[in-house]
Amino acid sequence: MMYYSTNGKAPRADLQKAVTKGLAEDRGLYMPERIPQLPAEFFEGMGERSFAGNASLVAEAFFGEDVPKEQLRRIVADTLSFDCPIVEVEPDIWSLELFHGPTLAFKDVGARFMARLLRHFTKGRGEVNVLVATSGDTGSAVANGFLGVEGIRVFVLYPKGKVSPIQECQFTTLGQNITALEIDGTFDDCQALVKNAFMDAELNEKMQLTSANSINVARFLPQMFYYFQAMAQLQRKGLSQNVVCCVPSGNFGNICAALFAKKAGLPIKRFIAANNANSVFYEYLKTGVYTARPSIQTIANAMDVGDPSNFARIYDLYGKSHEAISADISGATYSNEQIAETIRDCHSRTGYLLDPHGACGYRALKENLQKGEVGFFCETAHPAKFKDTVEGIIGEPIEIPERLQAFMQGTKQSVALSKEFQEFKSFLFSRSR
Ligand SMILES: *Cc1c(COP(=O)(O)O)cnc(C)c1O
Repeated sequence: MMYYSTNGKAPRADLQKAVTKGLAEDRGLYMPERIPQLPAEFFEGMGERSFAGNASLVAEAFFGEDVPKEQLRRIVADTLSFDCPIVEVEPDIWSLELFHGPTLAFKDVGARFMARLLRHFTKGRGEVNVLVATSGDTGSAVANGFLGVEGIRVFVLYPKGKVSPIQECQFTTLGQNITALEIDGTFDDCQALVKNAFMDAELNEKMQLTSANSINVARFLPQMFYYFQAMAQLQRKGLSQNVVCCVPSGNFGNICAALFAKKAGLPIKRFIAANNANSVFYEYLKTGVYTARPSIQTIANAMDVGDPSNFARIYDLYGKSHEAISADISGATYSNEQIAETIRDCHSRTGYLLDPHGACGYRALKENLQKGEVGFFCETAHPAKFKDTVEGIIGEPIEIPERLQAFMQGTKQSVALSKEFQEFKSFLFSRSR
């Protein structure tokens, strides 16, 4: 399968190039040139197969021409060592829990799959360096996904004092092939350092660099597995008609994967993209005009994105038609106060504890679901990852899962750097070998 750039000015690439480069030469995002259709037998048997069983067939349809079947199966099996259960919160409203991976966030699947696929493609070709800028969740998922993977080093850049202590522990205590860089600046400064590194000819000559943000096809596409598994579980319950899927969105990588799943044949009726106060996509749906804005800080901080990178993919997927996009996807946007009110209300009425991101999804689904429809929203992180915020809202202590506690017992190791590119570059040079 070949991949083309959404900007249309770069040569087509094979999967190996798309994964090792991340971004196309014209700064566009790679798209598979065709979307494989899964056969009727696949859907009929979906409810009987395991998570990895369904995911392997989906992976084969998309990546089977580029990766031998046996290896692909192993990559999928190694990636999916956990489940994504669907839980009924109240009649017709289900929570797809995407937080059962090692860092308790949905990004674990993409990060783990990408680490293994990158390893497959770069084995014996020298060391690869993954650069990733994070405001919290991406860094922990990527660092843990790549931990101990041979031939790959990861540099996580994060803004000093601006990520939660739990999140910080998840990527600064690992050691091995993971280096945490504490940047004296904002998240945008971190992202700018990474972008500059990719454009620096001297650096690229000396080191193989790639990105593990959701611009990478190997990070966002595997998230399709979640949606097949959601429908498999609903099918088992006899609920696979008129299904609405609601995804709390920031960079729109996760919902983009859901849209690809539908294009590959998964019978999801329609989608809702739930936003916090960063409402660029919501405004686009209303007006047909896409206007990027600086991001606003909210309590659902993994969705604080003012210029969602995967918008380009969605736009392309629907033939650049506002009408087609808004026929399939509706939007919602919520303030911090509304998010807090939703967490409190859902918890007291149903006993189900939402995190601030999932709360946007739950509320958008509840407000938009029509008669005769059944819906699920993605619960994208465990509420304990936002312990202080959530405890402040419900006024009760919440338990921290053991897996999170284990991270907090490690020793923090990070390298402090300024936001000057020269300093970052010299540091990378000092680590090249
Ligand atoms: C990354 C993240 C999101 C947003 O996902 P996108 O793919 O960027 O839209 C939502 N919730 C949580 C907890 C996240 O970590």
